[in-house]
Amino acid sequence: MDTDTGNRFPVEDRFPAQDRFAAGAQYIGGRLRPGTSGRHQEIVDPATGDTVHTYELAGPADVDAAVAAAKEAFPGWSGATPGERSEALHRLAGVLAERAEEFARAESLQCGKPIKLSREFDVPGTIDNTAFFAGAARHLEGKSAGEYSGDHTSYVRREPLGVIGSIAPWNYPLQMAAWKILPAIAAGNTIVLKPAETTPLTSLLFAQAATEAGIPDGVVNIVSGAGKDAGEHLVGHPDVVMTSFTGSTGIGKRVAEIATRTVKRLHLELGGKAPFLVFDDADLTAAVHGAVAASLINTGQDCTAATRAYVQRPLYEAFVEQVAALMETVRLGDPFREDTDLGPLISYAHRDRVAAFVERARAYARIVTGGEAPEGRGAYYRPTLIADAAQDSEVVQAEIFGPVLVVLPFDTDDEGLALANDTPYGLAASVWSRDVYRTGRATREIKAGCVWVNDHIPILSEMPHGGYRASGYGKDMSAYSFEEYTQVKHVMYDNSAVAAKDWHRTIFGDR
Ligand code: NAD
Repeated sequence: MDTDTGNRFPVEDRFPAQDRFAAGAQYIGGRLRPGTSGRHQEIVDPATGDTVHTYELAGPADVDAAVAAAKEAFPGWSGATPGERSEALHRLAGVLAERAEEFARAESLQCGKPIKLSREFDVPGTIDNTAFFAGAARHLEGKSAGEYSGDHTSYVRREPLGVIGSIAPWNYPLQMAAWKILPAIAAGNTIVLKPAETTPLTSLLFAQAATEAGIPDGVVNIVSGAGKDAGEHLVGHPDVVMTSFTGSTGIGKRVAEIATRTVKRLHLELGGKAPFLVFDDADLTAAVHGAVAASLINTGQDCTAATRAYVQRPLYEAFVEQVAALMETVRLGDPFREDTDLGPLISYAHRDRVAAFVERARAYARIVTGGEAPEGRGAYYRPTLIADAAQDSEVVQAEIFGPVLVVLPFDTDDEGLALANDTPYGLAASVWSRDVYRTGRATREIKAGCVWVNDHIPILSEMPHGGYRASGYGKDMSAYSFEEYTQVKHVMYDNSAVAAKDWHRTIFGDR
């Protein structure tokens, strides 16, 4: 295995974060400004451990200012026609496309993502999302009008909610910002987004691009602050009508508690532990390639990553051997090298957490390959395959969020499906088979918000993304997300022009 960790390119050539955000890492009312919490946050390049930027975190006063800016912008933005909002989003897609390389570099710097992943997945996905919501803004539909009682006409209006408060994680900072901001503003809301405090750079670039595209000041605001103070203050804010949260299930529960106090609409995109179910008639080579790619994408820090492979007994040994062999060819390295397949984990602390799962597993399972950090700088960890773990063991049940795949055998289809559903999560899953009856049954019975057949990972702007069970509720992307970011109003007209309506008899007796 080729391992070339660390970094050979100077930070200014990657992304000059210090210069770009010298004015601060809060974007409120259309301009950058420093936070006022008195506390500072370092942005650390996980490939080297070097600090690439330090900024003052947002505190509650900054959240208040951002919410006030969003509140002030709401009447104008919600009053714009769908066509005007659509035009603005089309312009935003154009600005993003012009700046694609800058976004890719900033994302790779703050996350340690291989540059080819940022260039070919995160950034084009975000541009496509923006173009999708530019079109979708003009298709916000209420139910068709009709005379449901003979002398009245009813229709349904779909209306924006107001100021949305959104919170995003560090694993796909740009895409998560886009998934939160785009449907919200396409529907006429204004937004305050809190990115993860360790990875605010691309959310800030996105907000600046929105301003450049002509989206009015205050429609998109970014508060770069810690979860406990800025995050909780945003969720509890009385002028915020909806909280949209993506992150871990544990923090999601805390967010739900706070949001409930002010009766907010709540959208939770939480953790996952996706099963990867291989039946004995599957194309083994396709399943092996799929398992390696889908477990290692973004160094396994992907809520839909393949984490539990269940392989029917006749294919099991070959699958284990071939996945391990393919994992060993994956090139760890400097994220800014074009031939790097796998970057570091997000931080040394997270790398240690992932390594601790594997160390504990040694007592009850077999580490087929990996299970160690390479020498050199950076929070790297080798692709790891674990076999012979029990279904109820920690590595099978808990979200590890690293380049670690667990593989288990099964005998009957009933057993495979039961094992696939046997964690609290339900975000995504895949089934591998050439038999349409098997895949048909599996897609019906697996409890997850997305089931792939003979693939695992692709997402689409047109299709909903969201969980079942402990993976949360609500949908990102697609027309379904409008349901999250709008409310429906029933409007009813009396057509009879009669003063004494028939139903008044229930109040006035029979007069
Ligand atoms: P996290 O839950 O630790 O943090 C997520 C966000 O919540 C961050 O911005 C953080 O600052 C904020 N936060 C922390 N404490 C808070 C509090 N008390 N109140 C309000 N906000 C608070 O998650 P993470 O480690 O950043 O991200 C990884 C997790 O995100 C994984 O569990 C992953 O599965 C999940 N995820 C889910 C999806 C999805 O679509 N379902 C997508 C990406 C990531």
